[in-house]
Amino acid sequence: MIVKPRIRGFICTTAHPTGCEANVRNQIDYVQQAGAISQGQVKNVLVLGCSGGYGLASRIVAAFGCGANTLGVSFEKLPGQKKTATAGWYNNIAFEAAADDAGLYAKTLDGDAFSDEMRAQVIDTIRADMGKIDLVVYSLASPVRQHPHTGHLHRSSIKPLGQALHIKSVNVDKGEVIEVDLEGATEQETADTVAVMGGEDWEFWMDALLQADVLAQGCQTVAYTYIGTKLTWPIYWEGTLGQAKLDLDRASKAIDHKLRALQGTARVAVLKAIVSQASSAIPVVPLYVALLFKVMKELGNHEDIISHIHRLFATQLASGSALRLDEDGRIRMDNIELAEEVQAEVQRRWPLVNTDNLDQLGDLAGYQEDFLKIFGFGFADVDYDAEVDPTLGRLV
Ligand code: NAD
Repeated sequence: MIVKPRIRGFICTTAHPTGCEANVRNQIDYVQQAGAISQGQVKNVLVLGCSGGYGLASRIVAAFGCGANTLGVSFEKLPGQKKTATAGWYNNIAFEAAADDAGLYAKTLDGDAFSDEMRAQVIDTIRADMGKIDLVVYSLASPVRQHPHTGHLHRSSIKPLGQALHIKSVNVDKGEVIEVDLEGATEQETADTVAVMGGEDWEFWMDALLQADVLAQGCQTVAYTYIGTKLTWPIYWEGTLGQAKLDLDRASKAIDHKLRALQGTARVAVLKAIVSQASSAIPVVPLYVALLFKVMKELGNHEDIISHIHRLFATQLASGSALRLDEDGRIRMDNIELAEEVQAEVQRRWPLVNTDNLDQLGDLAGYQEDFLKIFGFGFADVDYDAEVDPTLGRLV
């Protein structure tokens, strides 16, 4: 089949097998060119949410920067003869093949990371293949979570708390700056969002791994968060997602306490805004990201997903790192995004930006390019007119 992007709102329903492989390969190349990171505590790594965005980049840096064995978990849709799989399915295959070529152990388990069954499968795999884990990366981003104890299906909402919000945003497809009205969340919607994107599942994972005695002495775990600035606070940090992320902070402290028996640590890392499947679903954020990218590129301090995560591992997770923590004990990787020179300029442009000047003030083209790359489109060395087998010759 010939695979072209099919975009529906903020998702692309097709993914290009060869393009996804190119995406993984390019990230591996970046890490290999950046040079080895002192292996230290990063030898056997579990990545929850390994198939895209920050989780995939973390797995690539762990493997190709630190030489680590990696076990990944993600939730994918399988391909058919005339239907492509999710991008993550191709990314996982490309990653495993590259790790294999490099002589690194890599296994991926496809299924619901919120379930106790997946926890049991992961523990069995660690025992059989890896021994003990010394880094757990928690990078799940999902709109729903079936609670493993109650069976209840929680759905997250991306809304402000209480009061409705009238705010600037962008229609990415049309390149139009628009104003949107967002209803305030109910208490139930907020609680559901905390149930999906908060810290309970991370705690369940670490409890299960501790109980199974599959964590090494000095084990670290890190979960990712976003805080941002006053431009995005109304929809993010001060909204339902912010409540979930505050719960992640709570969980971090609880897990850290439990890991002390192993001289281990749990931390939340505050990362930079990038384009991912998860972030493109958040209103306002694409406009902010378009302005941010333009300003950071002009200032020469822009980081993409892989360079950002490489810096996280090299400067904060490698052994002996001097940690850059805030007063709540979070690792701050958003220091460049939040630098005065960056924010002053993004905030100056925010009230000025409109559909006519979006290209001058913002980098919507860069946003769209990064968005398509998530699905394997837009790589110069891929022939998009060539026939490809969406199943990659596998029985599915
Ligand atoms: P993403 O959408 O690119 O990746 C999410 C991953 O979670 C995928 O591998 C997906 O398969 C997996 N997943 C989702 N539901 C699952 C389930 N039920 N079982 C197993 N796997 C499942 O997301 P992302 O943007 O990389 O986000 C990862 C984390 O980073 C989130 O906590 C997010 O808040 C945080 N973060 C993102 C940004 C950003 O700008 N994108 C910025 C800072 C922090």
